[in-house]
Amino acid sequence: MDDRTLPPIAVAAPVLDGNERQYVLECLDTTWISSGGRFIPLFEQAIAGASQTRFGVATNNGTTALHLALAAMGIGAGDEVIVPTLTYIASANAVRYCGATPVFVDCEAECFNLDPAQLEAKVTPRTKAIMPVHLYGHPVDMDPVLDLARRRGLKVIVDAAEALGALYRGRPVGALGDCATFSFFGNKVITTGEGGMVVTDDEALDKRMRFLRGQGMDPGRRYWHPEIGFNYRMTNVAAAIGLGQAERLDHHLEARRRIASWYAEALAPASNFIIRPIEKPWARHAYWMYTVTLGDAVRRSRDEIMKMMAARGIETRPVFYPVHQMPPYSDAVGPFPVADRVSAKGINLPTHGLLTRSDVERVAATLIECARD
Ligand SMILES: *Cc1c(COP(=O)(O)O)cnc(C)c1O
Repeated sequence: MDDRTLPPIAVAAPVLDGNERQYVLECLDTTWISSGGRFIPLFEQAIAGASQTRFGVATNNGTTALHLALAAMGIGAGDEVIVPTLTYIASANAVRYCGATPVFVDCEAECFNLDPAQLEAKVTPRTKAIMPVHLYGHPVDMDPVLDLARRRGLKVIVDAAEALGALYRGRPVGALGDCATFSFFGNKVITTGEGGMVVTDDEALDKRMRFLRGQGMDPGRRYWHPEIGFNYRMTNVAAAIGLGQAERLDHHLEARRRIASWYAEALAPASNFIIRPIEKPWARHAYWMYTVTLGDAVRRSRDEIMKMMAARGIETRPVFYPVHQMPPYSDAVGPFPVADRVSAKGINLPTHGLLTRSDVERVAATLIECARD
């Protein structure tokens, strides 16, 4: 197949087809472009509403949302937080920003999420919290995680950066645990350019996060800072984009589901050597990234296949390197065989709302062709 003349297909792209433009222009016209303005509380309420939580605290990115939540929960030096090794680096880094230690756990082989069966063995007297990550949009099996947390008196902070709109046993993933965080980076389910949020039902935690987000300023005394806080505020311009996106969340999620079903169909004939993602009966996948793994029958390396696809105009991404493989975390206590294998064999295929059925079929056909011989 010679498709070198066809337009390139990007792995991710934002879809800004709602009120984003109108709301941003309102920011410019009214000069409310900084961290005050009406769109910030509206966006916070929209995401809290979609998460079925009482509160949402917007931040300037998903990493600061994680750090803010951990800091507000009092995680600090000497504490341990259990984190899956197969995640984006931000999950582990946020724990380190607090002076605490991430303790890594391997993933299960079906959805590549933190394996609840391996959690208990990682708990020590220093363990303060568990951070499940809903990898690529498929929810973690949360009941055993929440059950262990209750039994052992641990906090649960959910990194839901990739899973806005995903459901666990019918409930939004943001509603589970003590709090959950989202990212609104340009390639996420919805975007604000850069942005993040923590959602929670805990009023005291909400208050504490707002305090720390704004440099730890005393709410009753301007420019009096009883503690060291951060500047993790979101701008009104970012929130304006976010509100436009959030108003059409269902539409964005439907587009991703449609794309996933097209991939499932187009890749079905290759199911003996290209393993498609699954959706557990108790889950609704957000399909942030449609992720396949190469079966043992495939002789070419994953990186070689990605290179070949790139030469045919198709951008893909390798599955994350497990955090324990990277230099700052090389003292992690393993082994992590599932994460190591999935990371070596996994590819994220283009997943975004601008893809047409023929785009998806072209990606699938190219992948099959590159993986076959
Ligand atoms: C995107 C992401 C984050 C946060 O990313 P930012 O780029 O800081 O918004 C955190 N955790 C995971 C798992 C992510 O995918």
